[in-house]
Amino acid sequence: MSVRNGREFLSIPGPTVMPDEVLGAMHHPAIDIYSGRLEGITHSLLADLPKVFGTAGRVYLYASNGHGAWEAAVTNVLSRGDRILVLESGRFAIGWGETARMLGVEIEVLPGGWRRAVDPAAVEERLRADTAGAIKAVLVVQVDTASGVVNDLAAIRRAMDAAGHGALLMADAIASLATMPFEMDAWGIDVAVSGSQKGLMTPPGLGFVAAGPRARAAHQVAGLRTFYWDWTFREGELHYQKYCGTPPEHHLFALRKAVDMLFDEGLDNVFHRHRLLAGAVRQAVESWAEGGVLEFNILEPAQRSDSVTTVLVKEGTDPGALIRYCQEKCGVVLGVGIGDLGGKAFRIAHMGHVNAPMILGTLGVIEVGLNALGIAHGRGGVQAATDWLGRSVPA
Ligand SMILES: *Cc1c(COP(=O)(O)O)cnc(C)c1O
Repeated sequence: MSVRNGREFLSIPGPTVMPDEVLGAMHHPAIDIYSGRLEGITHSLLADLPKVFGTAGRVYLYASNGHGAWEAAVTNVLSRGDRILVLESGRFAIGWGETARMLGVEIEVLPGGWRRAVDPAAVEERLRADTAGAIKAVLVVQVDTASGVVNDLAAIRRAMDAAGHGALLMADAIASLATMPFEMDAWGIDVAVSGSQKGLMTPPGLGFVAAGPRARAAHQVAGLRTFYWDWTFREGELHYQKYCGTPPEHHLFALRKAVDMLFDEGLDNVFHRHRLLAGAVRQAVESWAEGGVLEFNILEPAQRSDSVTTVLVKEGTDPGALIRYCQEKCGVVLGVGIGDLGGKAFRIAHMGHVNAPMILGTLGVIEVGLNALGIAHGRGGVQAATDWLGRSVPA
């Protein structure tokens, strides 16, 4: 017995739901790699992506996932033996640091934890102690997709400035770009990375790195540069150099459509939609938490991201049973807990091509699952979410 047949809803934090228009843009034979049409798409994307990052700097486009973009960022600005500071707030900055470690960079982790944002005061204190300026870069995520935290990148830059430290600030915006404001230049971010399959609503397989002037200066002396990732090569005149080989044509068709859709909606409206839907999710989780079994992983409300919510499940209750119920019985695929939260949490994504019925449907299904499995929870989660949207979205 199930009510799952119909369109399955993917509520995992990447890959996210792809709009039909984006999928349709890919349903096209390959075109001549030397054609004016393809060059036009490249030029328009290289002009438009910096607007999404909030930078007057350049964006480089890679046929890669986010891990590739991580490596691209590190190899273009650092050298073997350089020391970097990795700011812990969950799984992903640590993962980026591991990438750098395998390339020969020395890693120092500033311990944070899984339940709170990076503390800018701790960053300032650590950098003040680095009087010799040994730390060349600071790595941080805007949204950690495992913990569900959002870090205040502008405050981290202010802390670096207060310490009078010259390290580059490198930010991972993979789970946040096009879901919430990201102001690379205004916030003093030197290098930013992202990927296609989260807020950008495009199939996995494109990575982006945005670079500001300080990063491009560091690039001139970076020792880890390799042919495939190298910015200088990709700045060359020939079109194939932009991708260091055959352009990932269908991903480019898709991304062009996705960026058009984001601009048509208006980035501010996109951010506002995410804020409202995230608010609805938080209303529901807050109600459910009254049952004493579920709770927000992120303790401080202001540090909960607008793109994904991580819900902790008390020991003795299996989040896997709920996740299975939602998928097998109701056709909603929730995110599992990852890293330290494996087997202890589930995640509700609310990023990308999502609207009220998708989010309210997901919350409704979770509530069905909580009831069916007899998991104690405060009643009225969906009611709280609909009340919130009714208040927040005026007639
Ligand atoms: C998804 C994600 C990544 C990894 O991206 P892949 O495309 O899976 O390599 C890195 N950082 C963050 C914050 C992410 O959400």
